Amino acid sequence: MFNKILIANRGEIALRVVRAAREMGIATVAVHSTADSDAMHVRMADESVCIGPPPSTQSYLSFPAIISACEITGAEAIHPGYGFLSENAEFVQIVEDHDITFIGPTAEHIRVMGDKITAKDTMKKLGVPCVPGSEGGVATLDEARQIGEDIGYPIIIKATAGGGGRGMKVAQNAQEMEKAFMTARAEGKSNFGNDEVYIEKYLTTPRHIEIQVFGDGKGGAVHLGERDCSLQRRHQKVFEEAPGPAISAEERATIGKVCADAVARINYIGAGTIEFLYEKGEFYFIEMNTRLQVEHPVTEAIFGVDLVREQIRVASGMEMSFTQEDLQINGHAIEVRINAEKLPNFSPCPGRITQYHAPGGLGVRMDSALYDGYSIPPYYDSLIGKLIVHGRDRPEALARLHRALGELIVDGVDTTVPLFHALLEEDEVLSGAYNIHWLEHWLETNLNQS
Ligand code: ADP
Repeated sequence: MFNKILIANRGEIALRVVRAAREMGIATVAVHSTADSDAMHVRMADESVCIGPPPSTQSYLSFPAIISACEITGAEAIHPGYGFLSENAEFVQIVEDHDITFIGPTAEHIRVMGDKITAKDTMKKLGVPCVPGSEGGVATLDEARQIGEDIGYPIIIKATAGGGGRGMKVAQNAQEMEKAFMTARAEGKSNFGNDEVYIEKYLTTPRHIEIQVFGDGKGGAVHLGERDCSLQRRHQKVFEEAPGPAISAEERATIGKVCADAVARINYIGAGTIEFLYEKGEFYFIEMNTRLQVEHPVTEAIFGVDLVREQIRVASGMEMSFTQEDLQINGHAIEVRINAEKLPNFSPCPGRITQYHAPGGLGVRMDSALYDGYSIPPYYDSLIGKLIVHGRDRPEALARLHRALGELIVDGVDTTVPLFHALLEEDEVLSGAYNIHWLEHWLETNLNQS
């Protein structure tokens, strides 16, 4: 096992990794930009290294700064958290070249899954069901129009290098094809340096269901059921739950096995998430994330396992601590993402926290790096906390969420907390009868977004 690991991230996820490492008796090194000198992850880690100025390109994304921080502190492994360098194959290669262990999958797995066309092709060959669409990339508008005719409108055009909800455009009919095609290409080029796009059938009432998988890197893998992340704004998740209210035990076992078998066959190592759209009882693969997800705590809650601990274990060469048979679902868990954003437009709202009080009690987990007097810097993601509740069943989890949100105090900045209070009044949320478009419609009618 490692003696010391470096965490190449910030905020709540850096703290999350510190906690797992400390329970394992592993020392931690935090890295931070000059904007984060007073951040909680810096205070909580055993050591810290300043790696550069505020812009993440010069700090949290800087390969030389992070590798040097490892060399200086003698850290043997790097945990990337999510975002930043967590899915950067080039970085992983460089880490390995320096004889440092990357706590995550291999550079090759990241490369294959990071390109959505290659990922889809690979998954199809591994027996995973996919959304109908183009075979590979679509180079010309004429070709795009032909595919639109063949699979039928509406369609969605996606940048193969896309992520975070960017580089995707919907065309409802042939007339909208040209604009959608050109825009998706341009967004792919400007955001990800790659203008290759592909086309999928646009599903009109699906749920977003993702399967958590975990591989030992030696041909063994398990699944940890699904998370339903259908409540989304601009293709970004805001509320996640496990198990999925619409998924039966039989469906879970079937799709879970398909996913575990697929990753076992490619000797996948560590945590991964296979994302699907689910409509009328069918699963359609959309992408695989080769890292820990923001919403991993709902899975941890219902299975009673620590996924970060498990990532560190397998990265160090140890066996996984559970088998598929050990993994039994206990109750229901919900996570809400608390962002420093001002409603109704969700504009980022950095600033000083004048008062912070985290909720507590049975079945409540607050993953956050906030503290009284902390100043949220304007340079990074607006996620400031995740509130996760666990109950014996869904109604109990919902009641607990309501109660915990009432206890939470975050003063000084605007947050998305009022959104969750409002959502907990809605029948569709209470009954779980929502799909990926429900929240957008709700926001239009209830918040009069501009
Ligand atoms: P990203 O990598 O940007 O997160 P994904 O491919 O994972 O992109 O898709 C993100 C979200 O976009 C999905 O959860 C879903 O809401 C929507 N989406 C993606 N593909 C389709 C599709 N074929 N039909 C309908 N919605 C889709």
